[in-house]
Amino acid sequence: MEYWSMITEILSLLLLVVLILNLNYKRRVLTPAVRCFWAGLFLTAFCIVWNLFCILLIRHGGAVPYQFLVFVNTAYFILVVLSGSLIALFVFEKMLEHVYDDHCIKRARRMLGGLTLIYTAVVFLNLRYGFLFWFDREGGYHRGPLNVLGYGIVVAELGLMYLCYFKHRVSISKEMKRTIKLFPPVVLLLIVLQISDQELLLNGMIAAFVELILFLAFHSQKMGYDSITGLGNRDTFFSDLELRTAGDQPFQVLLITLTDFNGINTRCGHQVGNEFLYSAASWLEDSRTDVSVYRYIGVTYAVIMPCLPEEQSMAYRKLLQDRFEEDWTLGAYSEKLQAVFGSYLSAGEPHNANQVMEALDYMLSVMKRSDQPWVDFDRTLSSQMVRRRKISQLLKEAVEQQGFEVWYQPVYCWKIRSFCSAEALVRMKDRDGGYVSPAEFIPVAEASGMIGEIFWFVLKEVCRLISGGQIALPDGISINLSMTQLEDPDLDAKIMEVVAEYGLSPEQIKFEITEEQLSSHPVIAGDTLRKMLRRGFRFYLDDFGIGYSNAAAVAKYQFEYIKLDKSLVGEIATDDRSRLLVRNLIHMFRDLGMGVIAEGVETAEQLACLTELDVEKIQGFYYAKPMDGQKLIGFLRGYGSDRR
Ligand code: C2E
Ligand code: CA
Ligand code: CA
Repeated sequence: MEYWSMITEILSLLLLVVLILNLNYKRRVLTPAVRCFWAGLFLTAFCIVWNLFCILLIRHGGAVPYQFLVFVNTAYFILVVLSGSLIALFVFEKMLEHVYDDHCIKRARRMLGGLTLIYTAVVFLNLRYGFLFWFDREGGYHRGPLNVLGYGIVVAELGLMYLCYFKHRVSISKEMKRTIKLFPPVVLLLIVLQISDQELLLNGMIAAFVELILFLAFHSQKMGYDSITGLGNRDTFFSDLELRTAGDQPFQVLLITLTDFNGINTRCGHQVGNEFLYSAASWLEDSRTDVSVYRYIGVTYAVIMPCLPEEQSMAYRKLLQDRFEEDWTLGAYSEKLQAVFGSYLSAGEPHNANQVMEALDYMLSVMKRSDQPWVDFDRTLSSQMVRRRKISQLLKEAVEQQGFEVWYQPVYCWKIRSFCSAEALVRMKDRDGGYVSPAEFIPVAEASGMIGEIFWFVLKEVCRLISGGQIALPDGISINLSMTQLEDPDLDAKIMEVVAEYGLSPEQIKFEITEEQLSSHPVIAGDTLRKMLRRGFRFYLDDFGIGYSNAAAVAKYQFEYIKLDKSLVGEIATDDRSRLLVRNLIHMFRDLGMGVIAEGVETAEQLACLTELDVEKIQGFYYAKPMDGQKLIGFLRGYGSDRR
């Protein structure tokens, strides 16, 4: 009869209990791999308890009915191989997680299932032949000649893992690579120890060590996972992309960005907001078995999945769109998570993870501005992105080499029948000597933070021109402000410093802002505006008449002039209703104590309409196109001498 010390099994059990207590039940999204790991962990712990029970029974073998002894031990042999196979299955699931070949994982499952079945059959045959173990009439336990067969199964499974590993190593994660180097040697060492010293009981320890290594690699709360959604974060997403691109596998990435999440946070509070984020993450994880979901950034999820046939792809798109049009319910809260979707297909030219990230970031910026529910990263978007990259590069060079110029467009004033002010418009040279439109590079400069450099350069150039004393513009020169400047709480003091440095006073410089800027950050922009007004600077409201125009917002701040956008001006000569609208707007602005500048005036007909409507100031190609500072000096001089 054998006498085993139970201490190793008890220690292993304690170790497993610690792991079980540390499982992150609430936050984990239950993927098949997670389920498999949890099941393996619980079954292993149960096996150890069962084994301890077996040992106690064997110690009192004579007093226990023979059939019961056989049943309990037979069950143990089956449980051990089942728990071992579950652990192995988890390793396969994790190993093949980034390999889009369904056959591999199916083959692995079949092989594991086959080995488990064979061994189970052997355990049942053992009841008759006793080649694993048998009991004598006194209840004494004896090992059979094939007692170590179970370890043979473990070694066979390890062999399969290595085969799989070498076949797919380019697409196997770093964690898995580390794990696969660590646990097989530990397992083999413990098996050798167990076989060479029959007094030891190491089965529980083998399983517990493997579980510990896997837990540390994949399930501990570690960097790379978002604590709110339980999803991998942007870094983990990037590592996933690196593996997929290294393996040259076709795949697609869908981005889902929530468009009005601030509203939910305000209505329900941040805690409930987080729970909504978690619900959506879980739903996305469950939406298909072959998706990996990440928290890409903020309230944007990324879903990586295989390229699907057209029909399936459309069906999945519909599923996503439909779900995000329905309510999400959390206790008493029910909210719609409005979303915009983007789709990026990797099939095509080879690319690396950085290039994919750049494309996704660009697609996301387009999604945020889009009024369509889906944005596809197609050829048009791709060439826009390339152009944007070029602009970004040109901007960087222009900032480094002072490559900007400031041009000026004179503004004609009816009251004095002369040019009374000008708008400063920045220019940037292309590599081939042409100019890039500011309408194209200003948004890139705003997004990349380079707008600050441009603004200060323009301000200093304008101050230099005015302080040179060669131009006489009674209402000064206006400069366009971006949101980034309005966010600076010390903007008024900094501008004042520059203006004073050139010996100018605030009324010589005007600032143009759009209503979009005011309404996107009303508090910050409003504060800056008020501080500057107090210092004596005056503002023009730019681009009135496009998109955002809201007459109520105009009344909130004291603008010196409202600039009617060229889209509005363009229609007044041909459309009676537009003329009527502009007439009423002008009356309203005048009642509020604000003047009107009409922008984009190109024709004599437009001018005739505007003078009839009594618009004070006119800016447009009809009078002058933007020109550099030297030309402006000449233009104003020439106009002065030509005046009748
Ligand atoms: P904006 O502030 O509305 O400037 C007026 C734009 O309309 C200028 O284009 C000007 O050349 C153009 N324009 C003037 N008269 C006419 C006309 O009769 N017909 C037509 N078709 N266009 C006319 P530009 O210089 O290309 O500037 C485009 C936009 O870039 C500006 O629109 C402004 O939003 C931005 N921008 C230009 N310079 C700066 C700057 O220094 N800072 C910032 N933040 N933005 C700037
Ligand atoms: Ca402007
Ligand atoms: Ca404008």
